[in-house]
This record gives sequence, C-alpha cells and structure tokens, in this order.
Amino acid sequence: MNLNRLVRPNILRLTPYSCARDEFKGVDAKAFLDANENPYNSPLNRYPDPLQENLKRELERVKGVPAECTFLGNGSDEAIDLVYRIFCEPGRDNVVAIAPTYGMYRVCADINDVAYRPVPLDADFQLHADRLLSATDERTKVIWICSPNNPTGNHMQRSEVERVLREFEGIVVIDEAYSDFSDAIPFRNSLAAHPNLIVLNTMSKAWASAAIRLGMAFASPEIIALFNRVKYPYNVNLLTQQAATDILHSLPRVSQWVNALLTERAHLIPSVAELPICRKVYPTDANFFLVKVTDADHIYHYLVQQGIVVRNRSRVELCQDCLRITVGTPQENCLLLAALRQYKR
Ligand SMILES: *Cc1c(COP(=O)(O)O)cnc(C)c1O
Repeated sequence: MNLNRLVRPNILRLTPYSCARDEFKGVDAKAFLDANENPYNSPLNRYPDPLQENLKRELERVKGVPAECTFLGNGSDEAIDLVYRIFCEPGRDNVVAIAPTYGMYRVCADINDVAYRPVPLDADFQLHADRLLSATDERTKVIWICSPNNPTGNHMQRSEVERVLREFEGIVVIDEAYSDFSDAIPFRNSLAAHPNLIVLNTMSKAWASAAIRLGMAFASPEIIALFNRVKYPYNVNLLTQQAATDILHSLPRVSQWVNALLTERAHLIPSVAELPICRKVYPTDANFFLVKVTDADHIYHYLVQQGIVVRNRSRVELCQDCLRITVGTPQENCLLLAALRQYKR
C-alpha cells in the first residue's frame, strides 16, 4: 500500500494550523502570555492539550495500543468524517461498505460528496470478502466494516475480514464500538500486521459515557499524523479529557456494567424469543439485539404509548419487520417484557 497515493493531494500539501501550545510545550513557565487566554477562571481559562497526551498514555495501558497510534476525537463520528476529508476527493472517489450498517458512514459520504457503495451482507448478516472486493474500483479509497455490526449485532467472520485487509489496497476501517461486549479478538491489536487498517472505538457504549463525546481511532503512526493535521486544533475539550481520565481510573466499574448487561441479555433474549410476536432473534455480540416480529411498525408504536422506546429498523435493507432493542437495567427489561406480553394485534 502506498499511503501517499491514497491521501488527497491538498491534504498532503497542507501546512497545518500551528497553535500556541504546539510552539511552546513546556509546563514550567512562570507566565503564559502566548495564547491570548484570560489569566482568571482557572483551569477553564487555558486551552486544553491539543494532542491529549496524558489521556492517550492512560488509554495505552487499557487498550494495548501505543499513544502514537491513537487519535482522539469528538465521538467516533469525528473520526468517520476525518476519514472522508483525508482520503476521499469530493465528486470523484467512492467508498464501499457492508449493508446494513451504522448510518453515519453514509451520511458523512453524502456530506463530503463521496459516492457510497453498499454491499449487502448474506442472510445470516455475514460478510463475504469477494463481494466487497468486487464492488471496488480504482477510485475506491475506503471499505467500511462494523464488527460487531450495528444494527444486526453479530461480529463479522475474522477470516473474511482478514482477506479484505490483505487484498484491498486502500484503507479498511473496522468500527469496533461494541467489541467490549464480544468474545471476538479485537482488531486494534493487529495494527502492525495491517498498515491500511483503522480501528474505531468509543466511550459511548461499554464505557457508559456517551455524553462526554470521546471516540478513538487506532492506526499506523503515519495515518494518525494525517488525522492530527486535519482535525480542529482543540477538538477534545478539557472537561471531556478529565471525565475520560476518571472513567479510566474506574475500570472495575466498567467491567461490572458490561457483565451485568451480558447477564441481562442472556435472560432477555430467550424471553423475547418465546413471545407470540417474535419470528426470530438474531445472534448478537453486542449490548443490543435485532428481533424480527410479526408487525414492527405496530409494535413500535404500541411500545412508545407504553413509554418504552426501541429502534424501529424495519425500513433498513434486510431488516424488514425488525426492531433493535438495547439491553437496559433489569427493571427496564422487565417493563419491556411485560408490555410485549400484553400486546394484542
Ligand atoms: C454508537 C456507535 C458509535 C458511537 O459513536 P460516537 O460518536 O463515539 O458516540 C460508533 N459506531 C457505531 C457502529 C455505533 O453503533
């Protein structure tokens, strides 16, 4: 793979914005008079670390990925958008993606005027490398894979994903937003073997911190350097960096939450499966599951009337009459089951 041939020429030529904190990195100065900050209202008066060095070092311990292979952004959504802005020439380049999958890949393609080529998964929602590869051409810059996948819940077969990584000469993004709920080995620890790989992680799901907006991209130092050139200089604010550090200091709580949700999932799925409205519960490796029901629209609106909100995915490709249900607390799951048991068409 030739990285420079994949990157947009204007990004290669770019002189990135140089901020005050890039120029002077020492911390022991007596007076910071370089950034036009207000000296009052500490600590919110100071610009935050543009590269979030301390937080990245904490993450390195937990994720096993070196800080120089880590980009942090305003949710994974920022990383998704940056992939387009770095690699895809508007109006010319295209990307290939599994379908159905997370909606932001297509929205960001549309915003960046990049053609989006969805390739349907099979009836078991599995990916076939040859189908993805044959949808590519010389203008395909990126292949999007999500594993465990949203909204289907299942993880993609490793051997097929590895074939895509080996045989595609562009960038392969694997979104592992749900990997903490899965037994599958995460791809973030295989970066050295795959110079074209970008792995996405987020604090929004297993880490129970969707409100702070912190997403991660893991990739080679060369790809991470591109992210750092294009991102807003202070893209992760101080409060988010502090809250993320706090959650990294309470890892036992995170694994308790994950274990509790997996236990609940194991109770909830068989109970849903035996309801008269249930046609099929699809296998899941995430904190949600997809269920095919007798009449998704009707059941969705019925649940809303009961104050219970699930996701109606019935108009998504291959997901006719499917609802996506997030695993909640034991009380929430009981409410859901009780409501579904009362349901009459
Ligand atoms: C929820 C989700 C995310 C999280 O996005 P953030 O912007 O980090 O909150 C990313 N990818 C997938 C597939 C998701 O389902």
